[in-house]
Amino acid sequence: MPLSSWFPSKKPQGAGEQKGAAKQVPDGIWSKCASCNKIIYQKELRADLMVCPQCGHHYQMTAAERIELVSDPGSFEEYGAGITSVDPLGFEGTKPYVNTLERAKGRTDLNEAVVYGTASIMDSPVVIGVMDFRFVGASMGSAVGEKITLAAEKAIERKCPLVLFCASGGARMQEGMLSLMQMAKTSAVMERLGRNGIPYISVLTDPTTGGVSASFATLADIVLAEPKALIGFAGPRVIEQTIGQKLPKGFQRSEFLLENGMLDQIVPRSEMRERLGTIIAHLAPPTPVEAPTSGEVS
Ligand SMILES: [Zn+2]
Repeated sequence: MPLSSWFPSKKPQGAGEQKGAAKQVPDGIWSKCASCNKIIYQKELRADLMVCPQCGHHYQMTAAERIELVSDPGSFEEYGAGITSVDPLGFEGTKPYVNTLERAKGRTDLNEAVVYGTASIMDSPVVIGVMDFRFVGASMGSAVGEKITLAAEKAIERKCPLVLFCASGGARMQEGMLSLMQMAKTSAVMERLGRNGIPYISVLTDPTTGGVSASFATLADIVLAEPKALIGFAGPRVIEQTIGQKLPKGFQRSEFLLENGMLDQIVPRSEMRERLGTIIAHLAPPTPVEAPTSGEVS
């Protein structure tokens, strides 16, 4: 009998996934903005880079859309596309993990919750990785951790900056301890980036929570975020229940984090490509960084 069947279900099956999906824009010609409730014309929304023309709400984007948004046309070359999670625990929850993975693959046309590769941004070579919330809430399992690590190693090998667009609902609980290990693994590789003098820029998008926010997402040299993105470790309700206090307004949103020194800049989506280009041009020296001396792992 699976462990989950010991507890009464408080929400319908798959509600967690639908919560994320509800923020996605429904199909149709017109839709209601999830933030301001005003009616928006789908075509206009897409033309505005999935930002509500009325209130500026930044909708989630797919990995492909983000890569297209910031990288120079035709410059992206994907690596590790075949890497995907396995089911090491034979996890049977409210639904088997293998089924969750298959469904996510079918819906997104991806093999995992992160896509990475080489590209250029405003003519500067980079390694770019983008997390896609549609794939099991961009939770971090072994395959996500491995791809983030490989992306960092590729940046060290190519001696070019690493840019990661982060989004995550937390750990891939279906992989148990193997999922939690990815925090240590990705943190370790980010330390190697630093030792090799490779600039690392992370962009936190809505939502970046759990193990991703507590590891590589916030270990960058420059931490950017999109406006009003939810960024935190545990959710506000859990914190309120733990500390028995009401949380301040705007808690765990980009603006709050910037005010409290956790972010370097908030960048609207329309300015993201140019801002990244400017930062990279400042950080990345025109001459390649010297190769590590012997004994240094790269
Ligand atoms: Zn709106």
